[in-house]
Amino acid sequence: VPLPETSLIDRIRRMVGPNSTGIAGIGDDCAILRLPPGSELLVSTDLSLEGVHFRRDWHPPETIARRCFARGFSDIAAMGGAPLAFFLSVALPPELKQSWVDRFMRSLVATAGEYGASLAGGDTAQSPDSVLIDMTVLGSVPAGKAVRRNGARPGDGLFVTGDLGGSAAAIQFLRENRRKRPDPGTFPRHFLASPRLAAGLALRKRGLASAMIDTSDGLSTDLAHICEESKVGAEVWAEAVPRARVGKAMREVSLEVALNGGEDYELLFTSPRRVAGAIAGVRVTQIGRIVRGRVVVLKDAEGKSRKLRPGGWEHFR
Ligand code: ADP
Ligand code: MG
Repeated sequence: VPLPETSLIDRIRRMVGPNSTGIAGIGDDCAILRLPPGSELLVSTDLSLEGVHFRRDWHPPETIARRCFARGFSDIAAMGGAPLAFFLSVALPPELKQSWVDRFMRSLVATAGEYGASLAGGDTAQSPDSVLIDMTVLGSVPAGKAVRRNGARPGDGLFVTGDLGGSAAAIQFLRENRRKRPDPGTFPRHFLASPRLAAGLALRKRGLASAMIDTSDGLSTDLAHICEESKVGAEVWAEAVPRARVGKAMREVSLEVALNGGEDYELLFTSPRRVAGAIAGVRVTQIGRIVRGRVVVLKDAEGKSRKLRPGGWEHFR
């Protein structure tokens, strides 16, 4: 059984330590936060459910914490924002061990520390039989400077950080190898997920990105969002798409998985400028360009094109 609510909150409060980014954090009715002068607040929320977004038999608590954190702050990264604080609401089943909760919280607080985000509050409840985690993340960006999805223009290059398909490949591995848990280091973007905050910030500060989104649902789906919002089309060069290398054998994932696999939390952006090989220490690859019209096509090495349909993750589909 987890600790009773009041002791659990006390314990979380002690783990977090004194509030750093605001005036008041955990322990009052509301947190009081202070924004850097001249900035706007970025806010996003994400719900993670056991059995939908993670499985306790597949994912150790440390991994679940990292994945929740990455999922939330990846949205801040995609706007070119700096992390500020986050709120955590959890519902825990009575059969859960307090040691599981401790491992989850320690990993979450440590990960947050790496990125300078502080846990400023939340809510705690009991659930009938599964773990529910809701995170609200806050970031800041100079007023009017957030990078939106709607700024892509025909002629812009299309770029992506890191590589794609690594997270979906981990799920594939877990499905196919029921008893084996892979070494987390062989699928880093899945088990050791991290948001591309430094890259997003650098792209915004240097004025490089005209539109940006994080790859949470899969390249094909996320690119469709940029095109929709910007009212443009795109051409993706199949050969150029950086495919993750996964597993002990470091095998490259298929093009299909790289195009449609979600939860890599890379940054997909467009730019009117040539973007050199790396940003904030992360590799950047040009994978295509923005075109007139509203169609997204995939071009193979011979120059043959086919329509690229959104094939990533969608709830209720
Ligand atoms: P209230 O009943 O006023 O909502 P709570 O007893 O739920 O207050 O919470 C007390 C304090 O603990 C608040 O500051 C709240 O933000 C914080 N808190 C509660 N649950 C969590 C949690 N899971 N993580 C971080 N802070 C939490
Ligand atoms: Mg409450």
